[in-house]
Amino acid sequence: MSTQAETFEFQAESRKLLQLMVHAIYSNKDTFLRELVSNASDALDKVRLESFRDKDLEVDTSDPHILIEADREHRTLTVRDNGIGMSRDEVQDLIGTIAKSGTAELLQQLKDTQDGAAAQELIGQFGLGFYASFMVADRVTLLTRRAGESTGTRWDSTGEGTYTLETVEEAPQGTAVTLHLKAEDQEDSLLDYTDSTTITNIIKRYSDFISWPIRMEVKRTDSEGETTRQIETINSMKALWARPKEEVAEEEYREFYKHISHDWNDPLETIHLRAEGTIEYQALLFIPSVAPFDLFTRDHKRGVQLYVKRVFIMDDCEELLPEYLRFVKGVVDAQDLSLNVSREILQQDRQIQMMRKRLVKKVLATVKDMMSQDPDSYAKFWDQFGQAVKEGLLNDVDNREQILEIASFESTHDAENKTTLREYIERMKEGQDSIYYITGSSRSKVENSPHIEAFRDKGMEVLLLTDPVDEMWVESVPEFDGKRFQSIAKGQVDLDEQDEDGKDSERQQEFADVLSWMSTKLAEDVKEVRLSSRLSTSPACVVGDNDDMGPTLEKMYRAMGHEVPPVKRILEVNPDHPLVSGMRDSYDKNGESQELKETAELVHGMALLAEGGELREPAQFTSLLANRLARTL
Ligand code: ADP
Ligand code: MG
Repeated sequence: MSTQAETFEFQAESRKLLQLMVHAIYSNKDTFLRELVSNASDALDKVRLESFRDKDLEVDTSDPHILIEADREHRTLTVRDNGIGMSRDEVQDLIGTIAKSGTAELLQQLKDTQDGAAAQELIGQFGLGFYASFMVADRVTLLTRRAGESTGTRWDSTGEGTYTLETVEEAPQGTAVTLHLKAEDQEDSLLDYTDSTTITNIIKRYSDFISWPIRMEVKRTDSEGETTRQIETINSMKALWARPKEEVAEEEYREFYKHISHDWNDPLETIHLRAEGTIEYQALLFIPSVAPFDLFTRDHKRGVQLYVKRVFIMDDCEELLPEYLRFVKGVVDAQDLSLNVSREILQQDRQIQMMRKRLVKKVLATVKDMMSQDPDSYAKFWDQFGQAVKEGLLNDVDNREQILEIASFESTHDAENKTTLREYIERMKEGQDSIYYITGSSRSKVENSPHIEAFRDKGMEVLLLTDPVDEMWVESVPEFDGKRFQSIAKGQVDLDEQDEDGKDSERQQEFADVLSWMSTKLAEDVKEVRLSSRLSTSPACVVGDNDDMGPTLEKMYRAMGHEVPPVKRILEVNPDHPLVSGMRDSYDKNGESQELKETAELVHGMALLAEGGELREPAQFTSLLANRLARTL
């Protein structure tokens, strides 16, 4: 007996993704089975865990398994599990919507790409989960009953915009997903998914390591030539991480990665580790090849699962890796923890802390090896995850050296390739004792900023730091390998060799009067006006004191809602520029004037614009400039 079916509409975003599936834009259709088996396996993990935590839960865990049933005649394929199941609300939430963060971005990017291969890659990166069924089926029904509940729910959809929900009195615990397979002639590339050999091959290929039995009725021919049908377990169920490294094929690692990460791309790097001795554990970690859409959103989950003696304990185990390595996916299986560890216990646990230390070191060391052994992979890695890794410079003081060691940065040395700090140091000029850098919002802005002129003229390399996180770490990391980090937009720079003939102090004398006058006239905006040795072609630039916050950081803090007192900077002028020497001559001859004051304001405004900064009063600047230009005509 069941209630009447109610019809619902898919949420708009889900509908669009479904459309993509129905019209099958992804070429490897077999992967639908991996997704369904992966969900079934998760559901079995969950029911085991829940029955363990809640002894009163009415649940059958006597024979957890996945059963695949093919019906040739009706052209259906059913994947059935006796796992946790879903309540009616859960079905609606989990299956009726794609709650994944990043869905909107995915659809936007899909709209923007015309190229089919790129679209496939995007979809792969996102992973389609349950919806992958619609690649091979034109109708999908799901019957499910949540452990502990008495009624079940039937969900039914052709993937065309609506689905129906129905409450069902009698339903076995767990979930059965039935695919009504598309007609073969409709899609000539489709395999016959009702054939047990086909299914067995797909399972062996993608899901062999699943730790629960996957059963199916298979045909066997005995020695007398008689064929019989019997139900067999078709996966080996061996936990991959527990097997010796030498015995695991690359492809098995790859498929395992896809199962736990829900990513459709191959991983960039695999780390398989076995620790013996005082604390015993196995870890199988992966560095993905592509960053997920939500790497920088707040709700990004960490990717490491905790197992204890082969039993799944939790997803998203924050205690095992720090936040800046949140993109690492994998499994850690500890031998000596209790099965009922909770997050609270984990936070205090000394074993976990030691494991975490070791895992962090291992991940960083793996990246370092990649740097020397496979520079292309390393470059890819750093493009995708460098920004996240650099967060570690702020929070993980113990591993700071190692993080700096594996970091790379854009630099004036090379327009295409990034440089490591070691490489920078090797190229340092004799007598140079600082690592020079400039921060800003884009390469072209900082590259053309006036601060860099003298460095360029003298052939001194400057790191161009343009990620937002760079603004933060440079404030707190003093040095690398004994070399100080020095902003070229801060403090005094002295690139000139010895001032033998005392030319500098003569200069200072010549400009002293006009500079001190300018300092008072611009006092509202700047701390001081002084001569610069970092300019060669521009008339002026603004610089900060060594301990002052840079303008971008100041803006970032404001954007985050912090109260930051305005930081006044220093205006440096170029004595060799005719505008500056002209101002001096005019001041020395005629003293101050309204016109000269306006010139000083224009010089300050231009210095701000040249570094890509913002004017306090843009309208006033423009009108001053327009008046001046009008007079030249
Ligand atoms: P994902 O597995 O990445 O979360 P899916 O689209 O594969 O995304 O599944 C969405 C959600 O639906 C799952 O997270 C799970 O909560 C639920 N679900 C899917 N299949 C099952 C199942 N067989 N048993 C219980 N819950 C399931
Ligand atoms: Mg899934």
